[in-house]
Amino acid sequence: MNALYLVAIGSVPAQAMEWIENAAAEWYPLPIRRLPPLLIPEAAYDARRKQYQSVEFMKALAQAAPRDACRILGVTDVDLAIPMLSFLFGQAQVDGRIAVISLCRLHQEFYGLPADEQVLRERTIKEVLHELGHTFGLVHCNQPACPMSLATHIGLVDSKQKEYCERCGMQLVERFSALEAEV
Ligand SMILES: [Zn+2]
Ligand SMILES: [Zn+2]
Repeated sequence: MNALYLVAIGSVPAQAMEWIENAAAEWYPLPIRRLPPLLIPEAAYDARRKQYQSVEFMKALAQAAPRDACRILGVTDVDLAIPMLSFLFGQAQVDGRIAVISLCRLHQEFYGLPADEQVLRERTIKEVLHELGHTFGLVHCNQPACPMSLATHIGLVDSKQKEYCERCGMQLVERFSALEAEV
């Protein structure tokens, strides 16, 4: 069966890759494989904003995706943005193959607070479920506790739970039974 690939882009805490792999394995019945880390795409850096353009990360992931990748999730610790938004927690192709998450704004230190590994872990899992959910066709959910709800600031990430609401969960189950039927 085609696999879900995980790849760090730039330096990412090893712990975080473990959390992400476990969260993905819990929800997605796919073989999960890791690729060796990618370099941060040089073209991505926006010196004026001191941020990185997410589109360059998406391009790098499309290039790095092995042939049997049904999904590829990139993970970076740098701050991502797109021209229209001041920052992104992550980005994904809805119903596509490619997604990226940034841990940058999930760290308590970003908000001037002491590091908290547990908080970072919770937030990371929610972002993984959000962006991978998009790649499996889920759109934004109106239930604030669902990881598929839109979070425009970290407080909204913190008010999410680490599991999909019933409706989004059902949609995923339907999606996977359709995929299995195709194989
Ligand atoms: Zn979203
Ligand atoms: Zn939902």
